[in-house]
Amino acid sequence: MHAIGIDIGGTKIAAALVDEFGTIIRSDRRPTTASDPRGIEDAVVEMITGLAEGEEVVAAGVAAAGFIDAAQSVVYYGPNVNWRHEPLRATLEARLDIPILIENDANAAGWAEFCFGAGQMYSDMVMLTVGTGVGGAIISENRLFRGGFGCAAELGHLRIVPNGRSCGCGAQGCIEQYGSGRALLRIANELADAGGIGQGLAAARKGKGKLTGKDVGRLIQDGDNGALAALRQLGSSLGQACASLSAVLDPQIFVFGGGVADAGDLLLEPIRAAYLENLPARGFHPEAEFAIAQLVNDAGVVGAADLARKHVFTK
Ligand SMILES: [Zn+2]
Repeated sequence: MHAIGIDIGGTKIAAALVDEFGTIIRSDRRPTTASDPRGIEDAVVEMITGLAEGEEVVAAGVAAAGFIDAAQSVVYYGPNVNWRHEPLRATLEARLDIPILIENDANAAGWAEFCFGAGQMYSDMVMLTVGTGVGGAIISENRLFRGGFGCAAELGHLRIVPNGRSCGCGAQGCIEQYGSGRALLRIANELADAGGIGQGLAAARKGKGKLTGKDVGRLIQDGDNGALAALRQLGSSLGQACASLSAVLDPQIFVFGGGVADAGDLLLEPIRAAYLENLPARGFHPEAEFAIAQLVNDAGVVGAADLARKHVFTK
C-alpha cells in the first residue's frame, strides 16, 4: 500500500508517492510562495491528486515547519507560511478523498531517518536538523515523541546560554542562536572582522560583499583555519545541547541533518568532544553514537508518507 508525502519548505513543495519500505515510486516538486497560503493549498491538492492517479493510496502526510496540534490537524503557528491556528487538515480533506495527516517537518525527517536511515539499528534517537535554524525530532522507545500538546521536540529552542542572544521564538539563549546555519555565518563574520585566522573568510567576503553559507562550506572543505574554527565553535554549542538532551532522553544515537551536516565528520568531531565533556556521570554513562543523516533531501516526504500510513493502520 502506497502513501503520499508532502514537504512544504520555505522555497519549494516536494511531494512523493512512497511504498512501505520508504522507496520513492514517483515524485513532484513546485516552487512555494510563502505569502500565499491559499496558493500552497491549491498546489498540495493538485500534487496529491496527480500522484494518486491510478494508484491505491492509503493516506497522505503533509509536513511543514511549525507547531502542529496533537490531533495533527491544526497548524498553531507556521514560521514560513503565515498560518495561525490554521485548520489545514480539514481544508485539505474537504477537497480530497483520502485521509490527511499534518506533521512537523523535522518530525517527518527524523522518523524517516529512524525507519530507513542512520537510526535503523536503534530504539532511541534524537535528530537535530541544522539548516537556517535548528529543528529537532525525538524517537523514544521506537515511537515518535509528540508531547501532550503535539509540540514536543522543538529542540532548536532549548536554552543553552542564560540571558543569551534573542531568538525569533521570543526567548533568549536558544541553541538555534548558537548552533544553526545562520549562527555559523554570524561566527564566520565575527572571525573575518577579527583578522588572524579569519583572513580567508575576510577575503571571501570582500570579493562578493557578503559571506554566504556556500562560501563558508567551501572554505571548510578547503581546510581554511577560520572556517574550521567557526565550525568547531558551532559544534561545541551543539555538543553541549546533546549532553543536556542525554540527561532527559538518554538516546543511543544523535543524527544530524540539514545543510550544515554536509561538513560530515568535521562537524561531528567537535560535537562529540563537547558532549563528552559535558555529559552527566561522564565516564560511567554509556556514550551515544553520532552520525550524519542518510536520506538528506527525501527525508521529509518519506517520513510524512510513512507516518500517515502508520496512523491509518493503527487507528
Ligand atoms: Zn528560541
